Amino acid sequence: MMFHVQSDVSLKPFNTFGVEVKARWFVEAHNDSDVRDALAWASEKNIEVLVVGGGSNLLLTGDIDALVLRMASRGIRITHEDCGGAIVEAEAGEPWHPFVQDMLARGLSGLENLSLIPGTVGAAPMQNIGAYGVEIKDVFHSLVALDRQTGELREFALQDCAFGYRDSVFKHQVGRWLILRVRFKLSFAATLHLDYGPVRQRLQEQGIEQPTPIHVSRAICAIRSEKLPDPAVLGNAGSFFKNPVVPAELAGRIKQEHPGLVAYPQAGGQVKLAAGWLIEQAGWKGFREGDAGVHALQSLVLVNYGAATGLELLKLAQRIQADILERFGVSLEMEPNLY
Ligand code: FAD
Ligand code: NAP
Repeated sequence: MMFHVQSDVSLKPFNTFGVEVKARWFVEAHNDSDVRDALAWASEKNIEVLVVGGGSNLLLTGDIDALVLRMASRGIRITHEDCGGAIVEAEAGEPWHPFVQDMLARGLSGLENLSLIPGTVGAAPMQNIGAYGVEIKDVFHSLVALDRQTGELREFALQDCAFGYRDSVFKHQVGRWLILRVRFKLSFAATLHLDYGPVRQRLQEQGIEQPTPIHVSRAICAIRSEKLPDPAVLGNAGSFFKNPVVPAELAGRIKQEHPGLVAYPQAGGQVKLAAGWLIEQAGWKGFREGDAGVHALQSLVLVNYGAATGLELLKLAQRIQADILERFGVSLEMEPNLY
């Protein structure tokens, strides 16, 4: 594939909010050589570079006066295999959900709870994607990233990534590391995680007594499809706020006034609150102003009904943050990356 920079490209198809903004420059990278050519091209012209994958964790608030470098590299290979499992390496541009399905089809488990998350393999370590009690740190082996400051390749082992709740070293060193490929440690003998949300109940309802990883994946896909808006139909970037982790004392005070508070004790005496519950209690569920709104079935998800701008969505998010702070004394942190 030829390295080909385009100018004034609409990013509407490249962000799941479906926000209409333009990239001054745009290129797709299909391999390491494209990535290096693109970075060299931008550096020569003194142009900033924004790396994107599937655009499912972005809020674009205006035209991007930079080179948008979309990772489109493909390739999945097993680098080590024994009777217990395998180390699998996937290129950054591999779409996440098909990768998960491919692993399950090969009998490799560990990723099933992360089914149906949009986006790419390369972006998954950015916020240590997680769902239904599993995060990629649980199955992560290592990754290869390009240091954009020095042009050198660097290997990251698990302990180098500083993975936390929707967090990693890559999220804090914005623009430094370009993730080229990620390796996962997957297993032929499944250890299933069913105790989160309605997963076990859904399997029981289906009469599945001895679930396989494929059953778990299907159940999670079904639950997610019922509750979450499909970005192809209604623009969104998944959860717009992280679940706040607050001191137990604050959680206790809120619970006195609101006995229905959804809260999960964490290590170290902290408590994780369900942000969606707080937003719903504050009356925002189903709210709509113009084309920016709060999803009617899941109040953690902001939606674009068609022509909302990134700034309109941002303003709505800020109104919700201010309201939750005033009502509950809780600060909500935005999850998508703002540009
Ligand atoms: P993008 O949105 O393109 O980019 C995200 C960030 O990563 C940007 O800062 C970008 O610059 C950077 N980036 C992208 N690729 C690279 C790379 N190769 N190297 C360096 N930096 C890079 N998230 C969860 O954790 N759990 C969920 O259950 C979940 N469910 C979702 C459901 C829906 C309907 C939607 C729309 C989103 C959901 N998300 C979820 C959020 C999102 O899908 C994930 O964060 C996903 O990993 C983002 O991947 P992406 O390729 O779309 O990244
Ligand atoms: P849910 O099942 O309605 O649960 C609400 C919240 O409670 C979740 O956010 C989850 O926190 C937390 N929770 C539920 N059971 C828990 C348990 N046993 N222990 C600790 N915390 C628990 O959530 P949902 O909105 O339908 O989402 C289901 C899963 O998919 C969640 O893990 C969620 O994070 C993930 N998801 C993420 C995104 C995103 O964009 N980031 C979008 C959609 C779904 P956690 O979020 O910390 O897991």
